[in-house]
Amino acid sequence: MHVPKILKIKRIIKESPDVKTFIFPWDGRSPVPGQFMMIWDFKDEKPMSVSLIDKTNNEIGISIRKVGPFTSRVHKLGKGDQLGVRGPYGRGFSIEGYRILAIGGGVGMAPIVALVEEARARDFEVDVIVAARTYDELLFLDRLKKTGARIFTCTDDGSCGFKGLAIDRLKTLNESYDMAMVCGPEAMMKGIFLELEKRGIPGQFSLERYMKCAMGLCGHCCLDDTGWRVCVEGPVFWSHELKMVKEFGEYKRDATGAIRPLG
Ligand SMILES: Cc1cc2nc3c(=O)[nH]c(=O)nc-3n(C[C@H](O)[C@H](O)[C@H](O)COP(=O)(O)OP(=O)(O)OC[C@H]3O[C@@H](n4cnc5c(N)ncnc54)[C@H](O)[C@@H]3O)c2cc1C
Repeated sequence: MHVPKILKIKRIIKESPDVKTFIFPWDGRSPVPGQFMMIWDFKDEKPMSVSLIDKTNNEIGISIRKVGPFTSRVHKLGKGDQLGVRGPYGRGFSIEGYRILAIGGGVGMAPIVALVEEARARDFEVDVIVAARTYDELLFLDRLKKTGARIFTCTDDGSCGFKGLAIDRLKTLNESYDMAMVCGPEAMMKGIFLELEKRGIPGQFSLERYMKCAMGLCGHCCLDDTGWRVCVEGPVFWSHELKMVKEFGEYKRDATGAIRPLG
């Protein structure tokens, strides 16, 4: 599991102007939605959530937003090119309750779409809030529609009909849910965490922290004050756990370990 499998890209789906999904054949341990893989382009290695878990066709997918040197190099690859893939790592979402609310912002929709597909396949009732800056950047709408989940979109510029952030969309849903699962920018997740607390809805949140080894050895992704490693105890944490995490919604650490404000 810790040795990367060198895999050929089976196909690539362009999801939005800056997000592509890379599909790989997979005969290893099946990931749980919310778990992540380490992707190696023979130069650098980065964590990426699993966005597609297809046990019938033995495939997994990762969806990558082009933001910097690594993701730009991977975006230049084509079908048949190779990448190293190790994992799955971390603690994923635990699908519990009966009525589930799933919320994804930007490329945070990657683990959320896999979660919605699994929850619907197991007959859970799912509402999903899909948030992005513009209509073009709303991810996985076709896949979500196929699941039969109720979809609530929102964009910063109003180009999908609802103008506002994920938290604004959440405030329009005066329904009760047994559980909420959330992934996106941390400022978004903190606002949603506070709203869910007010409504007494337990939540599970997927955190991003700078990761090096991804197997719990280096300690780079440890959280203040609990010391939990995001790569092992996370990346998914429950509301009651996040109450003990001082840095949640406040700051993170960069590649050197220095404290940085959330981007
Ligand atoms: C558990 C987890 C799951 C993720 N899932 C996805 C996903 O599904 N799709 C996606 O597009 N991105 C995902 N990311 C973020 C992704 O790892 C970074 O965007 C990527 O590493 C950026 O590399 P870069 O060289 O292109 O950009 P850089 O310019 O190096 O960095 C851009 C941003 O990515 C962060 N980053 C860079 N390297 C790492 C690292 N080793 N660990 C954590 N963050 C890093 C930086 O702190 C910075 O905020 C995930 C991160 C984590 C921790």
